[in-house]
Amino acid sequence: MALKLYNTLSRSIEEFSPLNPPTVTMYACGPTVYDFTHIGHMRKYVGDDILRRTLTLLGYDVKHVMNITDVGHLTNDADDGDDKLEKKAATEGKTVWDIAEYYTNYFHTTMQAVNVLAPTIEPKATSHIAEMIAMVERLIEKGFAYETANAIYFATSKDAAYGKLSGQKLADKEVAVRDDVVIDPDKKHATDFSLWFKRVGRFADHAMYWPSPWGDGFPGWHIECSAMSMKYLGETIDIHTGGIDHIPVHHENEIAQSECATGYDFVKFWVHHDFLTVDGVKMSKSLQNFYNIDDIVARNMNPLAVRLMFMQTSYRKPLNFTWDSLELANTMLKKLYKFASHQDFVGDVIGRYQQSFIDALSDDLNTSKTLAVVWEVINDNSIEDKDKWATLLSFDQVLGIDLMHVHKFVITPEAQMLVEKRDEARASKDFATSDELRKNLEALGYEVLDTADGTKLQ
Ligand SMILES: [Zn+2]
Repeated sequence: MALKLYNTLSRSIEEFSPLNPPTVTMYACGPTVYDFTHIGHMRKYVGDDILRRTLTLLGYDVKHVMNITDVGHLTNDADDGDDKLEKKAATEGKTVWDIAEYYTNYFHTTMQAVNVLAPTIEPKATSHIAEMIAMVERLIEKGFAYETANAIYFATSKDAAYGKLSGQKLADKEVAVRDDVVIDPDKKHATDFSLWFKRVGRFADHAMYWPSPWGDGFPGWHIECSAMSMKYLGETIDIHTGGIDHIPVHHENEIAQSECATGYDFVKFWVHHDFLTVDGVKMSKSLQNFYNIDDIVARNMNPLAVRLMFMQTSYRKPLNFTWDSLELANTMLKKLYKFASHQDFVGDVIGRYQQSFIDALSDDLNTSKTLAVVWEVINDNSIEDKDKWATLLSFDQVLGIDLMHVHKFVITPEAQMLVEKRDEARASKDFATSDELRKNLEALGYEVLDTADGTKLQ
C-alpha cells in the first residue's frame, strides 16, 4: 500500500510519490532560537520525525533539511514588531549570538531527549545570507519585488497565484492583515512582505546585519526558508512541513517568492501539524504553561513517553496536553520496557502484524492505530516472546522509543541472596523478616511475587 498523505495544497489525501525515487527531499521549518523549546515544539518535530522514519521504513532515502532561524523573525509573523532574537538579547543583556547559541543547544538537547533524528543538513540562516541576497536580486530582476527607503518587498499583487495554499483571495488576505501598525508608508499592499530589511529607522541599531546591494541590513524570515531549501534540495521539493499556524503567512510567502523566482512548483506536498493546547487552553506567558523537557524530567517521567502520547492523536487533530495524559503514556512505556527487559533472543518478525503496522502508517500516518497494533502483538498469546520481540524491534524504527537499549532484567547475586534468606524466613514463618526482605528487594527495583515455588522476582 502506497503512502497516503494529506496535502494542504490540494486539501485532500493523495498518494505520495517522490520526484526522484528513492530519494525524498523534505524541508522542515526549524526553530527560531530565542527561547526554550517547549511541548508544542516537541509535537511538531516528533511529527516530522514520525513522517521521516515512516518514509525510511517504506524504503525511501530521505534527505531532510531543517533550518535554524537565528535572524529576521519578527515578533509578529508579518512585518511589524521586533526581531525576536534582538529583543531577547536586550532583555537578557547578552549578545544575539549568545542567545542563538544557547537556545540552539537547548533545542538540540530536547530533540535528543525525545529521540528525534538529527536532520541530514541543518543550515543556519546567518550562514546563508549570500543565497538570500541572490534570490532577492532575482525577484527584483523579474519584477516581483520593489525597494523602499526601509526595505525590499515582495509585490503580492504581481503574483496571480498568491494565496493558493490557504485558499484566501488577495483581497480577503488584505483585510485579514493587521493594518493598525503602518510601519512603512511606501509599502504598496498590506500583504506585501519584506524580503530584506534595511538597517535604518526602527532597525538602525540592529546588531546582526550584512552588506547588500541595498545597503546594510538583514533578511526577512520567509526568504530564509526558500533560499536554504533551494540550496540543499533543489527548486522543487517533495515535502515541506510546518505547523498549521504557518499556512496563511509564512508558507504562503515561501511559495510566492520561490515560484516567482524559479517559475517552477516549489513544493509537491505540504504537511502541517495541528496545534497543541495545555490543559485545554493556548500556551501563554501569563499562564506559564510552556512546559519543556526539564519539567518532564523533574516529574520523573521518561521524555520518550512524549512520543507515545503524541502518537495517540493524529497529527492533523488538535492535541490537548495534560500531565495525566503524559503519565498514562509513561505507564505504557514502562510496560513495553518491562517486556523488553526480559527478552534475550530475537526471533522472526510476524508478517501480518508488520503489515498492519505499515498499513496504519500509510493511512495518512495513523499513529494511534500503530499503537493498537503494538498492544495486539504484546497481548497475542499465540506467538512466542522472541517473535514478539523481533516484531516490536521492527516497529521501533518508527516508534523511536529505543527498545534495543532497555536494560536487560538480571537477578544480581545480592538479590539472589535476599531471595534465599526470604524463602528461609517464610519457611520458618518469620513474616516480619520476610516483609523486611521484600522491602529490600523492592528497593533494588524488583517486583516481588510469592509463588508455590517460593519468591520470584520480576
Ligand atoms: Zn520556514
